[in-house]
Amino acid sequence: MRYSELFTKTSKTSPADETARNAQLLIQAGFIHKEMAGVYAYLPLGMRVLENIKQIVREEMNALGSHELIMTSLQRKELWETTNRWDDEVVDVWFKTELKNGTPVGLAWSHEEQITNMMKNYISSYRDLPANVYQFQTKLRNELRSKSGIMRGREFVMKDLYSYSRSDAEHQAFYDAVTAAYLRVFDRVGLGDITYVTSATGGAFTKYSHEFQTISDAGEDTIYVNKDKKIAINEEVYNDEALAELGIEKTGLEKVKAAEVGNIFSFGTEKCEQLGLYFTDDDGVDKPVVLGSYGIGITRLMGVIAEHFSDDKGLVWPEAVAPAKVYLARLGDNEAVVSQADELYELFNNRGVSVLYDDRDVRPGQKFADADLMGIPYRVVISDKTVAANIYEFKARQSDQASQLNLDDLLKTLDITT
Ligand code: ATP
Ligand code: MG
Repeated sequence: MRYSELFTKTSKTSPADETARNAQLLIQAGFIHKEMAGVYAYLPLGMRVLENIKQIVREEMNALGSHELIMTSLQRKELWETTNRWDDEVVDVWFKTELKNGTPVGLAWSHEEQITNMMKNYISSYRDLPANVYQFQTKLRNELRSKSGIMRGREFVMKDLYSYSRSDAEHQAFYDAVTAAYLRVFDRVGLGDITYVTSATGGAFTKYSHEFQTISDAGEDTIYVNKDKKIAINEEVYNDEALAELGIEKTGLEKVKAAEVGNIFSFGTEKCEQLGLYFTDDDGVDKPVVLGSYGIGITRLMGVIAEHFSDDKGLVWPEAVAPAKVYLARLGDNEAVVSQADELYELFNNRGVSVLYDDRDVRPGQKFADADLMGIPYRVVISDKTVAANIYEFKARQSDQASQLNLDDLLKTLDITT
């Protein structure tokens, strides 16, 4: 990507109408655009981060033997009535509208009902189970407050996975596999150390559900965490009885603010019974399917990463999600500099190394400031000086120290095989 072709611009000042640090930084760096409170567009650099996060999640979900699909955003009222979730008193985040002929439709805030109903077309025998599907979907929720930037959107991207199992045992095994896969996801995006499986409010089937909570001052939740034992319990269920049931000791628990980046949930057979999803087991008996529901807030996760990995100069993306691995800054436009920078850009492209090539005619200070604000992990500078000395100036975003490297060492340092 050439910066001269990128339409977005960074801004020297933080947006006045944002209090959340994630949104302030992301807007300032040109990653997102605010349409209104809780509603953000993802610009080219922001979209790259989003896609990187999605790809990590996708790989882990595929490894579970789960298949990706995409459901609709317009939903039928009747289906939600079947499970008593159309009522605004029951679900307080509905956006609703109607067709020209007056037929009411809901704008999707979740998809358990739709996917489960659809599965009736495909699941009728034990041979059809287990079935596990997931999607990345833009959910629409009329949230009362949206002051946390992209961490609480009225329109936001969620990864939601649904598991259809034959028995509680089969369900539990998959539930445990998802738990492990989620921990791998949070590890891969750099939040492994501060993300905890947290016991939280359950549903009709289980007394507790499991949330994945990342410690963050920007989070809206409060949890009690034992950092040594890597366990946590949400404030909303924290009491002596729950601690006893969960086998959690009170000593060693620390109260912290956290952001719920994921949530996994057992529905038992209740929802499939309501919607009529049954299968014939190998004993010839018709039984309801066991449902599990597993969410990750993709855009919230991006916000949490932005909050956590930032400093006074801007964003500091972990390499796994960064919009580019290298920020290549060309200083000045002398022919030798231009041709060496173009060559290195070419080489990076050929090796599949993502690079943002700052080929603009602006002052060096502006280029360095942008590299820092955008949080690209590595910066390479090519100038009259470096060309004369036949070296490249290299600096990691997190380091204060630049080093002078020859081409071989530069490629080695960047893990590029020659
Ligand atoms: P919260 O308690 O934060 O409102 P929730 O319990 O409503 O979350 P779920 O319906 O379980 O969340 O959604 C799954 C995941 O989607 C959550 O764990 C969270 O990461 C994310 N999420 C939920 N609501 C939002 C939102 N308004 N904006 C961004 N992400 C969200
Ligand atoms: Mg909610």
